[in-house]
Amino acid sequence: MATTGKIGVTTENIFPVIKKFLYSDHEIFLRELVANAVDATQKMKALAASGEFNGELGELSVRVELDESNKTLKVIDSGIGMTAEEVDKYINQIAFSSAGEFLEKYKDQLSSIIGHFGLGFYSAFMVAEKVTIETLSWKEGAKAVRWSCDGSPEYEMTECAKEERGTVITLHIADDEKEYAQKNRITGLLNKYCKFMPVPVIFGKDDVINKTEPLWTRKPADLKEEDYNKFYKALYPMADEPLFHIHLNVDYPFNLTGILYFPKIKNNVEISRNKIQLYCNQMFVTDSVDNIVPDFLTLLHGVIDSPDIPLNVSRSYLQSDANVKKISTYITKKVADRLDEIFRNEREQLEEKWDNLKIFIEYGMLSDEKFCERAMKFCLLKNTEGKYFSIEDYKKSIEENQTDMDKKVVFLYATDAESQYTFIEAAKSKGYDVLVMDCQLDSHFVNLLETKVENARFARVDSDSIDNLIPKEEKAKPILTEAEEEDLSVIFQTVLPKENQYFVQAENLGANSAPILITQSEFMRRYREMSAMGGGMNFYGEMPAMYNITVNMENPLIARILDSKTADVAPAQIIPDASEDASEDVKRTVTEAKATAAAAHRADLEAFAGDNEILKQITDLALLANGMLKGKDLSDFIARSAKVVEDAYLK
Ligand code: ADP
Repeated sequence: MATTGKIGVTTENIFPVIKKFLYSDHEIFLRELVANAVDATQKMKALAASGEFNGELGELSVRVELDESNKTLKVIDSGIGMTAEEVDKYINQIAFSSAGEFLEKYKDQLSSIIGHFGLGFYSAFMVAEKVTIETLSWKEGAKAVRWSCDGSPEYEMTECAKEERGTVITLHIADDEKEYAQKNRITGLLNKYCKFMPVPVIFGKDDVINKTEPLWTRKPADLKEEDYNKFYKALYPMADEPLFHIHLNVDYPFNLTGILYFPKIKNNVEISRNKIQLYCNQMFVTDSVDNIVPDFLTLLHGVIDSPDIPLNVSRSYLQSDANVKKISTYITKKVADRLDEIFRNEREQLEEKWDNLKIFIEYGMLSDEKFCERAMKFCLLKNTEGKYFSIEDYKKSIEENQTDMDKKVVFLYATDAESQYTFIEAAKSKGYDVLVMDCQLDSHFVNLLETKVENARFARVDSDSIDNLIPKEEKAKPILTEAEEEDLSVIFQTVLPKENQYFVQAENLGANSAPILITQSEFMRRYREMSAMGGGMNFYGEMPAMYNITVNMENPLIARILDSKTADVAPAQIIPDASEDASEDVKRTVTEAKATAAAAHRADLEAFAGDNEILKQITDLALLANGMLKGKDLSDFIARSAKVVEDAYLK
């Protein structure tokens, strides 16, 4: 006898709602149906294992059958099946009404939920105009049931002639969802969602499309390095070999398995992201794991499988979920444990792969306090000789030679060994060591290390003269009057490129050292770099570059230039201040006279500097050493140098 009835829904008609809100994600219906079939099959196995069921189990696979011409798609299992009461309870009442409640409750934030919430069985109505269930329960004496529904809240339920235990779900694909009646589309979906489901899934002519025991479900002890590499290749056919892997396996206080890989990260951090696939009992859920693992770990690749990550909540809620927090902490800890282990037992490997690993670790240290604490131990520093050190070892090795007069150990570093070559050599000639800090995050990383390493300071090797980088004792400064200092500044400003700003200072660097040195102050440079990277300090980013020009007063060429300045340029005319009680007119006249005298003096200095070939030559040489001599200035320099050589040898 046939029964008809109204499905227990509160919302008048739920199907349009399902269609509308889950629009972008219609394809998940197949995952949901296959997952139900897999579930029913596993329950059957469990009944047999516990002895509750003693009959013939038969072949326990799930079949997906497509009839392209009739546009029907079937999902067939030999699982536990359902009795008429169960269909009524699970399909007519509970599932449907809870879907109704769910939509009611979350309708405001549905768009953020889409894709992480399976509507279970009812998601079939996203693509089908009619769905039938034919099912026979495993229970003794159960009668087969046929249920069908055409998308209105009305269903029909009758007995039927099905003889094998299990369930057949038949979808009559709707006209506007025709793609789901195409073989390629279904193959694609099965590959995406069902590739690792725990029961064989068969599609087409006996093709098993899945691996029921993917690597992460197996014991690490039974696996070799090459198994992990093979699995990686299967997951990411286009990627380079991974650097290391971590096999995760925990069952208390939450359940999680998985394998994470450190990929070779090339330069672009962004494109390496979102490669971790999230599974729930071997069913693919998503490949975006943000809010589940800390941001820096989204650079890792691999698979995480956990039934304890709630999937039917919004993304922003995930972060505050207690289980997710524990999972995230656990994964971070495991990653740190593994790196620590590599550091202790496979140091050579770590050094070999460090350059590829570094950006990941620095990102982690910069963004995760706990990880940073751990990583201070295994993080490596590389020097210009290509040698690697732990931070602690490195500090010890330079302590004796590179401690300044304030008792701070000075870590010297280069960001570009080529262009900072002269400075690196100068440091080496003093017996100093220079680190290489040439990666994307290094300017932030240097700041971080300064706060973490006690009594240490970082200085870029070209940020000052070598004696000033690590000052060992108070040095006598050259004594200049204010006017002399001002003159010096004007002279050099005249011959330096106009697009930058300069701070000219006199120092005694020794008769054998270069006449002038162009450096960029560590402080200013770091702020410019950080604001360029989006550190928020845009004020510094927009300012012209600022350089320090250190004039070595002990260099004979400088002495010569200053001598000829004294000879050629008359000192600025000194005009005494107007007396306090002078009239406003007199005061104004005096001020104007002072300005005129200053301008005249300045013009004299500029004319002198412009004509002075030695001055031009030594300035250009310093610019050249910094890679700052370009365009016309460069070709003028070459012509001038050629003439100097000619003069020296041919005359
Ligand atoms: P969920 O799977 O999240 O419980 P569904 O709407 O997908 O929600 O399914 C509701 C219930 O219907 C399931 O819990 C299960 O008891 C039953 N069911 C669905 N599909 C099958 C199947 N293929 N075999 C046996 N029972 C099923």
